[in-house]
Amino acid sequence: MAADTSPTVEAIELRILRLALVRPFATAHGTTAARDVLVVHVVGDGVEGWGECAADTVATYWRETVASAWADLVASAGRAPEQPMARAALEMALLDQRLRAAGTSMRDHVGGTRTSIDVTVTAGFEDDVDELLAPGYRSLKLKVAPTSRPPEPRHGVAIQVDANASLDPHVDRVLLSELDRVGLVLIEQPFAAHELAEHAALGRVLRTPICLDESIGSDADALAAFEAAACRVVCVKPSRLGGFGEAMRVHDRCVAAGVEAKVGGMLETGIGRAAALALAALPGFTLPADLSASERYWRDEVITEPFTLDGHGRLAVPSGPGLGVEVRRDVIDAATIERTTIPLERPGTSSRAQRSPGT
Ligand code: MG
Repeated sequence: MAADTSPTVEAIELRILRLALVRPFATAHGTTAARDVLVVHVVGDGVEGWGECAADTVATYWRETVASAWADLVASAGRAPEQPMARAALEMALLDQRLRAAGTSMRDHVGGTRTSIDVTVTAGFEDDVDELLAPGYRSLKLKVAPTSRPPEPRHGVAIQVDANASLDPHVDRVLLSELDRVGLVLIEQPFAAHELAEHAALGRVLRTPICLDESIGSDADALAAFEAAACRVVCVKPSRLGGFGEAMRVHDRCVAAGVEAKVGGMLETGIGRAAALALAALPGFTLPADLSASERYWRDEVITEPFTLDGHGRLAVPSGPGLGVEVRRDVIDAATIERTTIPLERPGTSSRAQRSPGT
């Protein structure tokens, strides 16, 4: 895209929103009842853009936190932050602004071909699975830990499990062989992120495909995983990969290698969810995305039209300019617990450094 179509960036505002979850979310790393979400808001030439950072308050799943991403964004003064989640958040806001100005949707920008996405609802340890499935989900992901029992099959529902790296290759063999007998779509990240050889060895004895998530922090990680034959599926999280450009490279690598892929979720608000759905519209994402309807997570969604499930277990990909969603300023203002405006080193030029490699 030509540089002269980009709006200038006059201000970058950061906010931390404290948003109540509909129900506490429990994983192998602990339980969350409310979530602090860092959002990035850019304004320039009368066009605004919004981005969301996937980092959590504490570093459990990933090293970045809301506080570290905030510091990284402030220190980088409009240039690309060092850490991937901070970088992805700024990229999202700048892309939203630029694409809004150009009248182009995020889906078209990335080359997405689908208008709706099959999605997976994820159950934490304490969730009532029947209640979660009630809106009509056809794909379910269950969090598992070393003490878990294999799930019962459910008619019409494809089941995945995600151990979030909590299993031990030597200790948890019995559980893994039990999980292999119940017809799962995949077993996600059984072992630690660096244990590629252990994942490869497991993949040789299980029928169920192994999916890697925490192991894939870059396109180079995907290459290493494929060379080690460590997985048959990759969970692509644009936030952890530093944005859409790297996410699209991993997508393309999966297609070239014949590895299945899905877009992962990170307890996003409607802002991050819109971006993830646009990415999931790419043809190489052959499995349902780990993205559910807004009501699964949030009491008050930050966008005017919450994402709702259609009659086929899918979410629509927004088709409007930019992310294709409108934020609710009343909800955002009420939820804001901290805000700052980043002084730009050279106002009007900072968006140039952030241009997505996908263009
Ligand atoms: Mg996962």
